[in-house]
Amino acid sequence: MTETALEPTLDRLRGGTPPRNHDARTIAALTANPGCARRGVMDAAGVDKDFLARELGFPSPFGQSQFAITRGNAFEAQVKADGCAELLTLLRDTLGLDVPEVAYDDLEVVAGHEGRELRHGRTRRLLARALETGEGTLFDHPLLRLDIAGQTAYLEPDVIAFQYAGRLHVIEIKSFAVVDGQAEPEQVAAAARQSAVYVLALRRLVEELGHPRELVSHEVFLVCPENFSNRPSATPVDVRPQLAVLERQLARLTRIDRILGELPGDLTFAPGEALPNSVRAVEARYAPECMASCEMAFFCRDEARACGATGTLGRSVRDDLGGVDSIPTALALADGSLEPSDDLAETAAQLRAADRLRREVLGGAA
Ligand code: SF4
Repeated sequence: MTETALEPTLDRLRGGTPPRNHDARTIAALTANPGCARRGVMDAAGVDKDFLARELGFPSPFGQSQFAITRGNAFEAQVKADGCAELLTLLRDTLGLDVPEVAYDDLEVVAGHEGRELRHGRTRRLLARALETGEGTLFDHPLLRLDIAGQTAYLEPDVIAFQYAGRLHVIEIKSFAVVDGQAEPEQVAAAARQSAVYVLALRRLVEELGHPRELVSHEVFLVCPENFSNRPSATPVDVRPQLAVLERQLARLTRIDRILGELPGDLTFAPGEALPNSVRAVEARYAPECMASCEMAFFCRDEARACGATGTLGRSVRDDLGGVDSIPTALALADGSLEPSDDLAETAAQLRAADRLRREVLGGAA
């Protein structure tokens, strides 16, 4: 099914509300659980999962605090003030880059319009010109696209594309502090994953424009405040490992039209009494890792616990148990009260062996 043909279906799923834009965070998180049809459908349709979770009575504590958002915005505005003057000083002095003339283009709004197609068109034009003629240095808020499970997602831009020596680099401004050259590893890892999403989207665009993908560097520049001050510091980060994971997992995401074809023809996530059942109609693959990456986590955890899903014990346990999806079934196979089907015979034998060992160990201890 073409993307245009899917539009009415996705519109119905959203209950007629406009689609939410993806950003690098949501795409990086999407790859955390590529086998989850529920998340795949909601993200492809641009469903506001945060709103949905609240409607279902399972609000998620996701998102930054207002204080962190305000602080982040102030730091970003400072680094970008006067045509990115501080940023350029950093690139020249700290990183030793010989950046001669500088042209700064802000692509956030095009002639008073904020339409995504228009903004993406301008990003394309300016980057095409930059790659062909070398014109332009800093492109702020480039609006990029990425194919997610067969659907085009527009990436809300919060990076700068920086052209240097004929190559494009991603510059990401973050408000977490670098103290004595060290930052919180988890925050750096999350920033690297998000930057990798932008690198990939830029590479796809460069390829569409007829250039080799290597023109977009795997080295991104992370700009953060230094030592509890507001003074910015820049660190080059190699995102090749994150890129490899991202490309592999995006390729594994089930094509959305296949999942949609198996769902009821009148399914919608519009608010109302039927909402919980509508959500349950799309298969989920809950694992504790969802708590850190998906707004639906509290709803899905509740559902998974209620039916004793093996996923609640962790992804590795679910994988080890193969086709056994429920804990009561696993226990019944282990104590022999349930006869396994042929395809579960091996798993059942292992469960019985584990049960025997456990009894022996506990008996010995007694
Ligand atoms: S929380 Fe639910 S919808 Fe989100 S990825 Fe996990 S199982 Fe899927």
